[in-house]
Amino acid sequence: MCLDDASVGAPLTSYPELPSLLETLSDALLFLDTTATIQYVNRRAAAMFGASKHELLGTSLWQSAPHLVSTALYQAVTTAIHTQESLEITYCSPITQGWLRVQLSPTNGGVLAFFREGKEPVRLYDALYKSEQRYRSLLESFTDGIVILTPEGLILDINQRPLLVAQARQEEVIGRPMVEFPSWRSAPLAQDQLRAAIEQARRGETVHFEVRLYPQAESYRDLAFVMTPHCDAEQRIEYLTCVGLNITEWKQAEEEWRTLLDIIPHFVWAMYPDGSTHYRNQRWRDYTATTAEQDQGNDSWSRWIHPDDRQRVLDTWQAAVHAGTSYEVEHRLLEVETCAYRWYLTRGTPRRDQQGTIRQWVGTCTDVDDLKKAEIALYQSQERARTLMDSNIIGIFISRDNEIIEANSTFLRMTGYSQEDLRQGKMGWFRMTHPDFLARTQQARQELAQHQTLIPYEKEYVCKDGSRLPVLVGGVALPFDPSQNLCFVLDNSARKELELRKENFLSMASHELKTPLTAIKMRLQLARTRLLKQGFGEAAATLLRAEEPVQLLDRLIGELLDVSKIQAGRLDYLREPVDIEALVYEIAETIQLMSTNHTIVVHGSAPCTLIGDKGRLEQVLINLISNAITYSPDATTVDIDLDATTEAVTIGVRDYGIGIPQGQRGKIFERFYRAFDLSQRAIPGLGMGLSIAQEIVQHHGGTITVESEVGSGSTFRVTLPLKRSNPLCNDLI
Ligand code: ADP
Repeated sequence: MCLDDASVGAPLTSYPELPSLLETLSDALLFLDTTATIQYVNRRAAAMFGASKHELLGTSLWQSAPHLVSTALYQAVTTAIHTQESLEITYCSPITQGWLRVQLSPTNGGVLAFFREGKEPVRLYDALYKSEQRYRSLLESFTDGIVILTPEGLILDINQRPLLVAQARQEEVIGRPMVEFPSWRSAPLAQDQLRAAIEQARRGETVHFEVRLYPQAESYRDLAFVMTPHCDAEQRIEYLTCVGLNITEWKQAEEEWRTLLDIIPHFVWAMYPDGSTHYRNQRWRDYTATTAEQDQGNDSWSRWIHPDDRQRVLDTWQAAVHAGTSYEVEHRLLEVETCAYRWYLTRGTPRRDQQGTIRQWVGTCTDVDDLKKAEIALYQSQERARTLMDSNIIGIFISRDNEIIEANSTFLRMTGYSQEDLRQGKMGWFRMTHPDFLARTQQARQELAQHQTLIPYEKEYVCKDGSRLPVLVGGVALPFDPSQNLCFVLDNSARKELELRKENFLSMASHELKTPLTAIKMRLQLARTRLLKQGFGEAAATLLRAEEPVQLLDRLIGELLDVSKIQAGRLDYLREPVDIEALVYEIAETIQLMSTNHTIVVHGSAPCTLIGDKGRLEQVLINLISNAITYSPDATTVDIDLDATTEAVTIGVRDYGIGIPQGQRGKIFERFYRAFDLSQRAIPGLGMGLSIAQEIVQHHGGTITVESEVGSGSTFRVTLPLKRSNPLCNDLI
């Protein structure tokens, strides 16, 4: 609309001389529509604006006359348009510093504005003048940038600070959109942020945002802005105040901190009270393989917590937020790269503003995986130990020196003692040991002290009621205090009873078998003698062959009897002088007569006599030589080596047979043990001979040892003392 045109509004067109009249006015006159676009301007106004009428028509007042623009004018124009009420203001132009008095009269479709330039403020406006001056010096005293914007984002006022930085003049920027301010033009991202902030502020919100601007090509400035909307009495937004704070140095310091925070071996974080992330260091990002953008939303960080721990952690966090106190919680976190969970200790603490309101939570997560796993392992091992202690299968006690200081209920039940007895120190290793086992127990304690471990051994306890309890005892010295031992005790009575029954059976069975067998042997011999006398040589030879298995059977039953006697401690020994050399030759000759495949060769000599049981020693040598023949089926020689010193005589029986594997050499002296070897399968035997031989040799104070190599043969060596250490000999003396 233009007052020069025929389309001028009805009230004005009815006075055709009005336009020329208005041109003569000494005041500058403008007609603005409701968007503050200039629709009419008189000559005086055009002169005041410094532009032609043509240039001014159709443009925004704020953009066309920057030297007239001020926040006060903007406020007044928008209020007049909105309220349709006339008003008058006097203000000082921020650019020219000249005083202006403006009368605003709302009309149909806009507002008429009369501008009058004042030389100096009249007295009435003294206070206003002073206040305006204060406002300006206040504005300029800020080291920060302050911009007053229309709700559309046009600059109404600006202080010198940002102008200096951008090397711009006020008149170049006033009335123009802030996004086009020189230092913003080269920062499209910042422009977008500013547009979004203006939009938000127009909706009545105070907006905080940070931008990076490039006032010069190579340097940047980080600015933190607060944009605040100002409302009139009717809550209509009049203008926006935008305060920009230079935070470049602070940002640089923050970046240095962040670099530091990124390399420390912890996760560092800052969260808002709603659980959304403000900051997480690079280490966290690497561990969880996430970017800051992916870390959006409340409690998004809890995604990486082990499902079993998640609720507990969230509850702890919520409780801390509720109470406003620091918190600590342990949990597992998923390491995305390895797909494995590690244990972390998270600590968080609130950060409050000056009013005491919690603004943020900051904290760290520390890797405690090794510690936690050790703790769990310790707990599990303690649990295992407790389960074992509480089990009713095994008796367990802890002893210090001779005294038992702790025992589980199974051990107490086994021995018939009570906790009270234990407390009163009535239980002890030796006190509870049967006298028959005292020596062995002493030996066991030495073993424990020396090796910190005790290989289980058999013994008997004397229970509280005096009864005997066969047990198997093993133990270890406690690593933290070697004077304390942890021992376990197994009730061995059932096994012992079974063994006793077996021994009784063996003894009975061998006796029962021996009697009829002796009768058969005698009858066979009698029949053979008769047949020979009657001239039936062939039949007698057949009978002789029948005697061989009977003799083998006789030997086996004899061994069985010996074994049962040894077990019962009833093997009898004679005490007589024995010429070992003569005995060896005698036995070698006898066995040679029966052996067709092997030659038995005796080497060396032993011209000495010892006191012993000749029959039993003979039994030892027969067993060794028979074994040498039996276990060397492919060989042709058995060598016997004799050697004697003043102290002892040694008999070595050497064969060139199958040999004995190393792991079995120690066991062949055990009762009923037979070395397992394929080549031996076809060789009969019951595994009794060597155990009897060892018993006999030991009874004579001697030793029996073996050296062997699989496939090359074995050498059994018996050493017998000639004097003193031979108990039989001592007995005689
Ligand atoms: P038996 O010969 O009746 O089995 P022994 O007690 O005499 O019982 O021997 C125990 C085991 O020792 C034998 O079964 C055999 O495995 C092994 N053994 C004994 N002597 C020899 C030897 N000279 N060569 C190889 N193995 C032997």
